[in-house]
Amino acid sequence: MSNRVLNNEITFTMNQRNCPVCDSLKSKSLYSNSDYKYIDANGEIYRAPLHYVVCDDCAHIYKNPNPDSEQFNELYRSAMIDAAETSAEENDARAAQHFNAFIKLANEFFSESQEPISVLEIGCGNGKMLKEICVCYHDKIKQAKGIDPSLPLGRALSGNNYFEFENIRFDQLDLSRKYDFIILDNVFEHFDFPREELNRLKQILTMDGQIYIAIPNILLTPTGFVDMFAGHPSNYLLENFNWLIDQSGFHLLRYDYGKWLTCLIRPKRTGDDSVKLDIISAKSKVNELIGRQFRKNNDVRGKIILLIEKEVAELKRKGKKLIIFGAGCHTQELLCQIDFENVICGLIDKNSYYHGKKRMGYLVYSPAQISSLEFGKILLSSQSFENDMRKTLINLGVAQDRIISIYENVGY
Ligand SMILES: [Zn+2]
Repeated sequence: MSNRVLNNEITFTMNQRNCPVCDSLKSKSLYSNSDYKYIDANGEIYRAPLHYVVCDDCAHIYKNPNPDSEQFNELYRSAMIDAAETSAEENDARAAQHFNAFIKLANEFFSESQEPISVLEIGCGNGKMLKEICVCYHDKIKQAKGIDPSLPLGRALSGNNYFEFENIRFDQLDLSRKYDFIILDNVFEHFDFPREELNRLKQILTMDGQIYIAIPNILLTPTGFVDMFAGHPSNYLLENFNWLIDQSGFHLLRYDYGKWLTCLIRPKRTGDDSVKLDIISAKSKVNELIGRQFRKNNDVRGKIILLIEKEVAELKRKGKKLIIFGAGCHTQELLCQIDFENVICGLIDKNSYYHGKKRMGYLVYSPAQISSLEFGKILLSSQSFENDMRKTLINLGVAQDRIISIYENVGY
């Protein structure tokens, strides 16, 4: 039983589909979570069951059924890209990681170009990487443009000094203008119809142009409490990604496997070899590497649930309250999976956009307000930012033994 008042949940329409890479109808179920929900910047909760399948013919991991694209676009419009729990330093460190991965593949194009370059970043998020690129190659770039559908980010980026910004999705972009270099950093995996998007990319790329695409390296997917594939409708392996771009008239120039699978592609030319899909290699990666991640994930989840249930019981016995640090999807998933028996007295989050508002039925405070709150313990609800959150609290004078670090505790 809970006394919190929740907004109405928005339920996505789910659509059945063929494999977005090879159009095959045949697939096997890989992972399902029918209770999965998203929470957006405004606190709206969307029920969007997760059903990942593996294509029999190309080993592509994709969502099927998939939430309706039109409805999902609404979610992107209200999205804020910076993880709510992130500090400025952590954000800068992340931006540097993205930029370093980018220059590793793209530096040659920019350094060696004799002509001024026009650049487009699709889904530029907070604009940090595009700004870095503009600064780094200012003598090479003639024009730079970023697009992103998020309204909160649009307000922040309009009129910035580094690049032209348009608050739109890729399918709303004017296709008559061409670009020499196009960037999709952690964007391509969000496309429901990658073949259509590749066609669109071909239309706006100059003949000698190149495209940088960074997608999650699914062989290194994070384990923990949230969805391993982070809700992405498409989860590529190098094998089926390379085959897809070849089929769409592109040639893979080079790639790198790190935190992300980063790729540099250009339009196909006569003489380029065509790509054969190495289905045996792709299937063995899915079975062995991704299978192992799933087992590890289930193990971590089980341990975390036990740990939290024990803490909740202890607080309840002592008549004390719990605060949760983190007002995003990780907390949404914890609330979905665990009965907190009314011990939660509020949430804290670094994102000032949330302060004073209710999310998931709880009021959100800033970390600085912690000293004015009555609580027994505080639970860090994030996998990536657990350390960062702990540091924040310790700097605010919260004693170590009042902080519950779930991932550290389960030895993750
Ligand atoms: Zn397929």
